[in-house]
Amino acid sequence: MIYVDYNATAPLRPESRAAIVSAFEVGANPSSIHQQGRQARHLIETARAELAHFIGARARDIVFTSGGTEANALALAGTAQQLQGNVTMLVSAIEHDAVRSNATQAALRTETLRVDSNGVVDLEMLKNRLVIWDVQNDGVPVVAIMLANNETGIIQPVRAVVDLVKRYDGFVHCDAVQALGKIPVDVTALGVDYLALSAHKIGGPQGVGALWVRSGAPLRPLLVGGGQERSLRSGTENLLGIAGFGAACVAASQTIEFMDELSVLRDQFEDRLMAAFDIKVFGRAEARLPQTSNFALEGFSSEIQVMALDLEGIAVSSGAACSSGKVSRSHVLQAMGVDRGVADCALRASFGWASTADDVAQFADVWIAAARRAVLREKV
Ligand code: PLP
Repeated sequence: MIYVDYNATAPLRPESRAAIVSAFEVGANPSSIHQQGRQARHLIETARAELAHFIGARARDIVFTSGGTEANALALAGTAQQLQGNVTMLVSAIEHDAVRSNATQAALRTETLRVDSNGVVDLEMLKNRLVIWDVQNDGVPVVAIMLANNETGIIQPVRAVVDLVKRYDGFVHCDAVQALGKIPVDVTALGVDYLALSAHKIGGPQGVGALWVRSGAPLRPLLVGGGQERSLRSGTENLLGIAGFGAACVAASQTIEFMDELSVLRDQFEDRLMAAFDIKVFGRAEARLPQTSNFALEGFSSEIQVMALDLEGIAVSSGAACSSGKVSRSHVLQAMGVDRGVADCALRASFGWASTADDVAQFADVWIAAARRAVLREKV
């Protein structure tokens, strides 16, 4: 079995598994004041410090959530509510649904920021929109821009967006779920106000994530109750998940150089495919995540590819796999102006911490053989 679907979920790192197993032993509520409770609290605060260190933040500015989706929802709805709805959200066209849907739900006014054909957000459009900003009608500008796209891996000019938006007293939310562990993520360098993260994309467990919030940025909690997480996210903390997340952060930060090796392997992989077939690689000329490759061979549909490769023991997704397990058309490729016929043939390969040179080479062999069979079938 060769796993090439890290952008969906990275396999659990052994360090994370070990941390989860030892957290099982604690079995107490982190809010309890007895010894076991204090032990549980210690695990949570250790994990908070580990995550904070990884993103250049202060531990107290991190709110643990149930995942990347909740972190995005908290940032967007929490800002809109705190600003009493007096916002217009400008959302990049390539955001994950966790951002697009939550922005639409959170704000009465949302507008879409175009991306160019290379998948990079159109800064000119943002500039032109902000120049005519009318505070009376538009309220406060809140921009949602991801650090790296989950389908193509293309990295977005987040700092440039922040520099523009700050001139208009706006706020910037950044979904860094896919960037963490793959490229350096530093909240100070980015300059954003909110940053969403998720454990299972870096080799931690599913069902746990975090929102980093700049001190003083507006935010109202979505969940109220026991007042955990500085009252920004009530509910007994996911002790096992948070402990696993912290350990995954440490492991990912210690092995981030491996991403450079993966980027060489990824490029070689694309070179081999391009030598064999006339494939289109999305964003190849752009700054991309080092381990993501999104490509299409027209006529070899995503659905057929995913099934054919599964039969050969390769776990891979089309970039646009949705929760129902069906392959739907990618709004990301659509926003880049990719032809429908080509977009319907896109495959997202995403490698990660346990990928080997052998995995990458074997995947290339299997894909090329499958594509040859598909082309032959078409000719018959
Ligand atoms: N944001 C991006 C860019 C993602 O790729 C994902 C997961 O696919 C999410 C948010 C949602 O994260 P989670 O699965 O932890 O809710």
